[in-house]
Amino acid sequence: MRTAIYPGSFDPVTLGHLDILERACERFDRVVIAVMENNAKTGLFTPEERADQIRHVIGHLSNAEVMIGSGLTVEFARSLGATTIIRGLRAVTDFEYELQQAAINMTLAPEVETVFFMAKPKYSFLSSSAAKTVAYYGGDLSPFVPDYVAEKLKEKYGGSL
Ligand code: ADP
Repeated sequence: MRTAIYPGSFDPVTLGHLDILERACERFDRVVIAVMENNAKTGLFTPEERADQIRHVIGHLSNAEVMIGSGLTVEFARSLGATTIIRGLRAVTDFEYELQQAAINMTLAPEVETVFFMAKPKYSFLSSSAAKTVAYYGGDLSPFVPDYVAEKLKEKYGGSL
């Protein structure tokens, strides 16, 4: 049983995140998408709201599940029996930060491997922040987030439109 975790802020989850998750699910027996609380200090949504949104949009993935994690990612991975950390790379700008995180995690937990999935070109400029900006100004969210998340963004920004 190969368990991988896909940690992140997911504030909120986007179609780019989902694409990485779907591709990871094809290659691992079990993939835990982990909303990490320590990354969530100034989020728009609470970790519980983010996890709820993810739960609503992963029904088609039988080997994916969502959890809220805290503390060091490698410790959370170990607690789940996960030996792989999944991360997505969009552009060169992601690389330096991701390389540093992977190096730290490798030092702390040599048995946990970080595996990178390259973003699909159509999602390579998509971020949670971009989706929030489009939502704030009332733009079409369908190219960026699942419908359920679009509804939640509209509810959040309803007063500002
Ligand atoms: P974090 O705050 O940990 O970077 P994010 O929710 O922003 O959390 O991203 C989680 C992971 O998903 C990161 O590895 C990030 O590079 C990746 N990611 C974010 N957006 C996309 C996208 N559009 N396509 C592919 N991977 C993405």
